[in-house]
Order: sequence, then structure tokens, then C-alpha cells
Amino acid sequence: MVRPADAAGPRQMKRMEPMLLRRLAETLRAGGIEDAELEAKWITEDAASEADALEIAQRRAKHEPLQYLLGTWEFYGLPFCVGEGVLIPRADTETLVDAVRMRIPDAAGQQIADLCTGSGCIALALAAHMPLTQFTGIDISGQALQYAQKNIALNGARNMRTECADVLAGETAAQYHGLAAVVCNPPYLTAEDMQNLQAEVRYEPALALFGGTDGLDFYRRITALWRGALAEGGLLAFETGCTQGDAVRELLSDNGFHETEILRDLSGNPRVVLGRK
Ligand code: GLN
Repeated sequence: MVRPADAAGPRQMKRMEPMLLRRLAETLRAGGIEDAELEAKWITEDAASEADALEIAQRRAKHEPLQYLLGTWEFYGLPFCVGEGVLIPRADTETLVDAVRMRIPDAAGQQIADLCTGSGCIALALAAHMPLTQFTGIDISGQALQYAQKNIALNGARNMRTECADVLAGETAAQYHGLAAVVCNPPYLTAEDMQNLQAEVRYEPALALFGGTDGLDFYRRITALWRGALAEGGLLAFETGCTQGDAVRELLSDNGFHETEILRDLSGNPRVVLGRK
């Protein structure tokens, strides 16, 4: 695991005690944490005291996500508050941000909706680079939106707001017209994936992970429902699971989207599906 550079809070412990570091690393290793030394170092950089550091290491050894324990994580070079109740931003998702930035020039008065916004990381990463565009992050989870609100403040974003609503409901989509883009990293894990979750991912909200039996429920509904919210030529941009690209691209074509594309993430996996209205 690579901890992004600037995600750490202010360094609380001035001097890293070699003894403490060793103790933390041993605790982590005993729990089967792979990068024990590295994570021990990050924990000392964030913890308020030795006792705090030890408690974090003990919880981490039980595979609580390090990101939740530290409370902040970096995405697209920006800091994000995270914790139980919200999906942790993944590096793979930066491919979706790049794809939208490359295709939609910033323009005054232009609007983009980020469906299933969670921590708000996609909309806020775009908002930082597209200051004239207005972003709305929509999510059904009030708990997730509390993180999104914190992250709007943390990043000083003036061009993002949130809406608590069901993106699969017709009345939500009907409120939006003339959007330059609809971006979305929906829940896309299959019923089978949910049975085989990594220990860390079990701490993340199922609401943000489970996409129905074949993982495609959100793509089906959103592609049909949100087409009307886009401007002519507007971009629909999805993150997908690495085996779902072809199926999602076909859904877009079936719903009248043009110029459909599948893009790969930095690991070389199909990760983003795009189409134009
Ligand atoms: N990328 C996440 C995972 O692999 C899934 C998130 C999602 O369903 N959008 O756990």
C-alpha cells in the first residue's frame, strides 16, 4: 500500500521513537499486515500520543482500514476526511477524474452532477481544476454526505453543493437539465463479490459496494434515467468493475449514447466507460 504524500495531518510526535516504531510494527505484523514498517511510520506521524499510536496499531492489526483509523486520505492530490459510513477513495478512480477533465473544458455556468458522491472525492477533484463549473454531489446516505460536506470545507471548494436523494428515482433525475456531464462511481460489486470481500472492505458500507446480483443494477437504471438530464453532446462517465466494461458500454449504446469508449486504469484494467448523448 502506498500512502499518498500529503494526506498526513500535522505531525504530532516530533521524534519517532525507534522502540515505539518497532513495537507498532510487531503488533501489525502479528495481525498479518503486509507493510508493517511503513504503516507503523504513518501511524506515528498521525497519532497524538504513544498510547494513541498503540491503540491504532491494535485496531489495524484486526484489519480495520488504515484510512479510517487515520481519518484522512489523499485522492487526486487533495486531502479527504474518511471514516465508517463512507467508501474510501481509491487510486483507480483517478482515471475517471482524468477522463472527464480531458473531455469537458471548464466553462462559466456549466453544471456537472456526481451521482453516489460518497466522500465527494470525484466532484471535489474536478471542482479544484474546473473552478467555473458548478458541481452537485448526490447521495442517498446522509452519513456519507456529512463527509462530503466536511471535504467541501477542507478543500475550500466554492463550486460544489450536495443533495441527499436516491439517484435511481425518476424524480431526482427530473430535477436536472442541460448537464455538461453526469459522472458516477456506483456500487458495482456482485452478490458473489460480496461473499468474498477482503477483511478491510468489510468495514466499508455495503450500500456503497453492492450493485445487485450481477453488479450492474446502477448502470442499467442510471443510463436510462439520467440521459434526459444531459445537454445534447453531454458526457456520461462511469467507473466500472474491471470485468464490466463491455456490458456497460453496450448499455450505453442501447440507450442511444454515441462515441462510447472504455479506458484502462494505471494497473491496466478496464475501469472507465464513457458515452456522449
Ligand atoms: N472499487 C471498490 C472495490 O473494489 C468497489 C467500489 C464500488 O463498488 N464502486 O472494493
